[in-house]
Amino acid sequence: MPFVITDPCIGTKDSACVDVCPVDCIHPRKDEPEFATSSMLYIHPDECIDCGACVPACPVAAIYDSPDSTPASQKALIEANAVYRVGDSSAVEKAEAMVKAHMSSRADLMAVAPTERAAAHAR
Ligand code: SF4
Ligand code: SF4
Repeated sequence: MPFVITDPCIGTKDSACVDVCPVDCIHPRKDEPEFATSSMLYIHPDECIDCGACVPACPVAAIYDSPDSTPASQKALIEANAVYRVGDSSAVEKAEAMVKAHMSSRADLMAVAPTERAAAHAR
């Protein structure tokens, strides 16, 4: 079961998880052109080896250890992680559209500071 990045990454995007991932499955990296316009980072579900290294590295608790453990408020972002493919503009657009839709539908969560957002996921 792959790990999943959720909405506290929006507005944080510090790449701490990228620095510790042993298989380079989190994108876009800072050296990839998509980084500047990306709303958040995404984990490739087929490449993630479930090592767990990214979870303690994330300063805002944005990463859940499986789709099943991802809170209901974040379910739309499971698909965004799955769809995103760096270097594939169509896939990037689809994933970003899913994130934008989530941001619109969960304006309540977006109004919470990223550092406090994970704590609000269960509400
Ligand atoms: S669980 Fe491990 S392999 Fe998967 S995204 Fe996190 S650091 Fe990378
Ligand atoms: S460490 Fe957390 S906030 Fe930073 S880029 Fe990764 S998922 Fe986003």
